[in-house]
Amino acid sequence: MNRKSFIKGTALCGIALHAMLRNSLAATKATEKSMGVSLDKVQRVFEVGKPSRVVIIPTEEVMKKINSAKRVTVKCHGDNFGLGHDQPGMPKNSSGKEFPKDWKIRKEDKPYKSNKEIPFKIEDGKIIIEDLVFKREDGYAFVVKVYAPQRESFLFTVYAVDPSIRKLRPLKGDTHIHSTVSDGKNTPEEVGARSLETGCDFQSLSDHRKYDGSLKLQSAFDGLPISIKILNAEECHMSDVHVHSLFADRGVTPWIIANKDEFDEMCKKIYKELPEDLDEYSRKHVAITEAEFAVIQRFGGLAGFDHPYWRHRCDSSKNSIMKYLPFSILDTILKRKKYDYVEVANGCAQESTDLIVSTLSDLRAEGIDAPIVGNSDAHTVKGQGKVFSIMFSEKPEVSYLKDAILGHKTVVVDSASDLELKRPMLIGKRRFILYAYFLLGSYFPRHEALCAAEAKILKQIIKEGRKPELMEKLAKASKAVKEHRAAFFGMADDF
Ligand SMILES: [Zn+2]
Ligand SMILES: [Zn+2]
Repeated sequence: MNRKSFIKGTALCGIALHAMLRNSLAATKATEKSMGVSLDKVQRVFEVGKPSRVVIIPTEEVMKKINSAKRVTVKCHGDNFGLGHDQPGMPKNSSGKEFPKDWKIRKEDKPYKSNKEIPFKIEDGKIIIEDLVFKREDGYAFVVKVYAPQRESFLFTVYAVDPSIRKLRPLKGDTHIHSTVSDGKNTPEEVGARSLETGCDFQSLSDHRKYDGSLKLQSAFDGLPISIKILNAEECHMSDVHVHSLFADRGVTPWIIANKDEFDEMCKKIYKELPEDLDEYSRKHVAITEAEFAVIQRFGGLAGFDHPYWRHRCDSSKNSIMKYLPFSILDTILKRKKYDYVEVANGCAQESTDLIVSTLSDLRAEGIDAPIVGNSDAHTVKGQGKVFSIMFSEKPEVSYLKDAILGHKTVVVDSASDLELKRPMLIGKRRFILYAYFLLGSYFPRHEALCAAEAKILKQIIKEGRKPELMEKLAKASKAVKEHRAAFFGMADDF
């Protein structure tokens, strides 16, 4: 959409603007550039209920128009924003204090139809709005109208969040990736650098039955001033069910092999608890899977149920038919909920997303609400970056990320779909999806570009070694990632 038609749209129709805020993934990307305001180093996330200072920096060209304009107005469009009702100095809403006698809803009372101008001042080439109170968690659009003498509009979008989630940052992570330590095509270092290149704030390698891959990467990047956190994981499978050991403090598969008798006992105990009408094959699979979950949790990890609806060959012959695991196994595991989270999107098992999302919706109707995560499950660096999770967490550290997952503060972003969607599919709680729409349009593009610049230097270091000049460059690039985040969220990282 070009600027002209966008501006026309916003000027004429509050609903169109509102819809645009809602579905702004691709749209925001296109319009951010054409807003006529600078978006570099500007705070875009504010706290609901707290008097805020909103600073809009017009481009030089727009500022010239503002300086010679007959009139400049600023209006703020937000869902149910209600600005002006009870703030001192704000113009009163036309509905006043009186309740309309005839119950007729007037045009100007519609929350999306903002007729209220906001007081502002212009200082040092900036439009400054002081002590603005955002009343509810939502996205807001400031429309600056310049009558110079023809009317032109410029747009600046922000998001206001509840105090309860104000400290949380949208941390991008991929916790299911393979390297040459198992069947992946790239070395742990190559995979780690690629994670950074795709804008991940944290990642964990999860080689098949091997915890060592994640350890190897951790030690390879140890001491480097990078903005990505390298965490531990392992993909376990003592049966046909794939299980994720996320953030455990040691390898699970080696422990099971070394403690076979104890593991067998755990399996037998679970087996006895399972419904007797469940067939022998399913009972065994469920028992082994749940015993794996228990070992992972014993070692401080989160137990994930990986790609539940993946399809695998029925036997070793190449032409054998591909099948889901028996639903008796899947349903029993999902309903008993001994896992900590379910992987709902997986870059390698794309068709299974529909089924697991619908299954989780069925389970919610029964009172079972499973936390969710999405991952690339990439086996090559090319496959990384298409599926990931945004975890709303204070820090990219294990205890905080665990809280984000278990507290349902994750949004799964899936753009690996073979449906050729124009934008990624988002899965999660509505509250966080709405926030993620804004962030994917306004925060992540620059974050990703800065991370990619950092990854370029990291790759050079992997190749040429830790030369002082490269280390210095890397530290600078990593600082730029942090500075962008600090400016955008209006608070510095404490990690
Ligand atoms: Zn797997
Ligand atoms: Zn895998």
